[in-house]
Amino acid sequence: MAHAIRHDWTRDEVAALFGLPFNELLHRAHSVHREHHDPNAVQVSTLLSIKTGGCPEDCAYCPQAARYDTGVQAQKLMTVDQVLERAQAAKDAGASRFCMGAAWRSPKDRDVAKVAEIVSAVKSLGLETCATLGMLNGDQAATLKQAGLDYYNHNLDTAPEFYGEIIHTRQYQDRLDTLDHVREAGLKTCCGGIVGMGETRGQRAGLLQTLANLPEHPESVPINQLVQVEGTPLNGTQALDPFEFVRTIAVARVLMPASMVRLSAGRQQMDDAVQALCFFAGANSIFYGEKLLTTGNPDVEHDRQLFARLDLKPLEVVETSNTVHADIMQHCAA
Ligand code: SF4
Repeated sequence: MAHAIRHDWTRDEVAALFGLPFNELLHRAHSVHREHHDPNAVQVSTLLSIKTGGCPEDCAYCPQAARYDTGVQAQKLMTVDQVLERAQAAKDAGASRFCMGAAWRSPKDRDVAKVAEIVSAVKSLGLETCATLGMLNGDQAATLKQAGLDYYNHNLDTAPEFYGEIIHTRQYQDRLDTLDHVREAGLKTCCGGIVGMGETRGQRAGLLQTLANLPEHPESVPINQLVQVEGTPLNGTQALDPFEFVRTIAVARVLMPASMVRLSAGRQQMDDAVQALCFFAGANSIFYGEKLLTTGNPDVEHDRQLFARLDLKPLEVVETSNTVHADIMQHCAA
């Protein structure tokens, strides 16, 4: 029986999924995964920081916040040519989507105009494009859509009730508002969060419940594991049990059956066996290649070997007239 796409998950239902015996949960998640995706295909994205550091926000995990002494050197927005060169290299290395991150609280209109130019250029290489630039208003989202942007990344980070422990310079509602603008502009959303920040399991359930109950499930759901960076307030937080991370991936898969669930930051700290469990539990997207914003990412060669050992194949980007999209549906299991 096909698992229905739902937007009315209760916290208790999500908590109950987290509480299932591990093998039970993985079986359930993998069954859902096979209904909607090719279990042997993984979408590969490359992330480039096009404007690094100097951010006025106070996200407790982030080395790019200007107020923390983390050794990150603030850099200006890259030029179109500089970004194009990196996008071409990412494509040559097998990436199908190119994600561009800029450390802004909310970009000015003139910043959005420059990013729009970059987006058009990257898109012309035949890559899917994604950007993460902070909070957007409706007009800015529409400008980016017009430039050819496919996805906008804006994470909820954590559960509503834990958000105030992590970020004080904006509200949860600000995130939800930007996501509304992005959806209304016709952009696909990439939206997930970070675990291992000292939250409880119930709060991990709260993050996933909030994501699953958005008006539409995000097309991509990045699940990050906190990368501890010296100088940030969260450095020294007790590390999350790797199996709890796998459970989080599995629950995300059950709640959002058709979304691409992405292993994002923190993958470098995971051994290959944990990654393999994550792929079984429903992760079907990774970042590779470029530096994952300012923290490291396993190198391309290691990932290629891991893919070969697990018989995983990267999803291709298929170009049809002006539209570029990952050929996800064709890879659905029968
Ligand atoms: S996560 Fe984004 S908004 Fe928060 S401090 Fe870092 S760059 Fe700024």
